[in-house]
Amino acid sequence: MNPLASRRYFLRQFIATTLAAPLALKSALRPETRVLVIGAGVSGLAAARDLKAAGFSVTVLEARSRIGGRVVTDRSTFGLPVELGAQFIHGQSNGRTLNPIWDIAKNQGWSTVPFKAGTGQTYRNGIAFTAAQDEAFNQLGEDFLDWVMDVLKESILEDSNTTHSIENAILQFSRERKLTPQQSLDLRGFLALEVEGDLGGDTPRISTVGFDEDREFAAGGDQMIKEGYDQLPTLLSRGINVITDCVVRSINYASKPIHVVTTKGAYACEYVLITVPLGVLKKGNISFIPALPAAKRTAISRMNMGLLDKVILRFPRRFWPEGNWFANIEGVDPFGYAFSAQESVHPGSNLLVAWQCGQLGTQREALTDAALIALVMTEVRRCFKGISVPDPLQTVISRWSQDPFSGGSYSFPCTGSPRSDIRALAASVNRSLYFAGEATNADYPGTVHGAYLSGVREAKGIIAAAGI
Ligand SMILES: Cc1cc2nc3c(=O)[nH]c(=O)nc-3n(C[C@H](O)[C@H](O)[C@H](O)COP(=O)(O)OP(=O)(O)OC[C@H]3O[C@@H](n4cnc5c(N)ncnc54)[C@H](O)[C@@H]3O)c2cc1C
Repeated sequence: MNPLASRRYFLRQFIATTLAAPLALKSALRPETRVLVIGAGVSGLAAARDLKAAGFSVTVLEARSRIGGRVVTDRSTFGLPVELGAQFIHGQSNGRTLNPIWDIAKNQGWSTVPFKAGTGQTYRNGIAFTAAQDEAFNQLGEDFLDWVMDVLKESILEDSNTTHSIENAILQFSRERKLTPQQSLDLRGFLALEVEGDLGGDTPRISTVGFDEDREFAAGGDQMIKEGYDQLPTLLSRGINVITDCVVRSINYASKPIHVVTTKGAYACEYVLITVPLGVLKKGNISFIPALPAAKRTAISRMNMGLLDKVILRFPRRFWPEGNWFANIEGVDPFGYAFSAQESVHPGSNLLVAWQCGQLGTQREALTDAALIALVMTEVRRCFKGISVPDPLQTVISRWSQDPFSGGSYSFPCTGSPRSDIRALAASVNRSLYFAGEATNADYPGTVHGAYLSGVREAKGIIAAAGI
């Protein structure tokens, strides 16, 4: 071997061994188990954190150019953090366990501000309720809710009975209690604010089965995170590989590895955790090969997304009284409009939030910004009648129903869908596909803590399936 040849030989050997080294090393190790998490909302990120900690190779594929999903804090419009999606930590504990979001907020030292219900003022056609009227109004509503739970208990406990709506219950209750026309209107106003506003559905579609499910950790009331709710997804995503602007189109789980096709190319993995909202699954924009089991497809078609939108307005001055909640009860559908102030969390901000839900919200999403603001301002002026109300300086609007990556605000208990649908939606398929997200949580649907707990639940399921 001449010196030149021996040098070439040495170089070839050197390159071969250097390049081969990592491969050889890798194959000597147990190959990492890959999990793809679809969606970087709270459920997906909570699961990704736990799966990564358990040693999986985790990649989160997110359609939007931001993380957080339905937790989205706008800072650009008013120079202050305002919430277009989730706003409240719903309670601190249920007497047995802490709300996990409250627990995180306290551990992180985030400043939280109580947002007490029952502060503010209710009006009827712009005239403030007296204390006695207010009490009678709330008592009537509470009596109705107790009646639904007690009198209809037998039938609503039956999982299969899904035909009874809150609308039927109103008619039955009004007849039995011989309500006056004014009381009937007040009851509808109460339900527009307390039930339709909370669930995002309309009384004919809200089922008496599960409508009063324990969605909250009741003790401690609502709290707001002063610096923004989006601190939560930011925290959960630390150290996680999230690929944004990556829309998942199809998932082929006929054999392993599973193949996932996205707008940013194809990925392979051993497990997929799907956390896209129910509204996205309903649109059918993600193809499953083979098709999902019949029970899951039925659940997806029978379950529904409610709508809650916000129009946030900044005024040159505060013209409303002190307190958090303001509502105007009216004698025509939609019977009640709710507004909330932000003074307790951002003093001096002069921000008022108009809440719109259900069919009304859907109709309003179709309007231009200018037309929608004009409509909302007539309602603000009807509520604060007799007060000089200035035009807003800036506004920001949510349109959750039109959002292709949400398809509504959150799931709600609707007629025609038995509670077993939630279990069918959450069920894993072939030890390959796993499902999380608020709509899969039977105890706390439609909430951030419900989404978080569903992610923790499915991470455990994947860890168990992988035998770790
Ligand atoms: C207006 C409003 C107010 C609310 N108020 C409260 C409140 O005060 N308190 C409370 O606890 N809860 C509240 N909620 C509910 C709470 O925000 C949700 O329950 C929770 O954030 C849902 O989390 P998730 O992980 O299940 O879904 P998401 O946060 O929706 O996450 C799913 C992710 O999947 C992504 N995705 C969708 N399609 C694809 C695709 N094809 N490919 C890849 N990624 C995709 C989405 O972009 C999204 O990031 C509110 C919601 C809304 C809309």
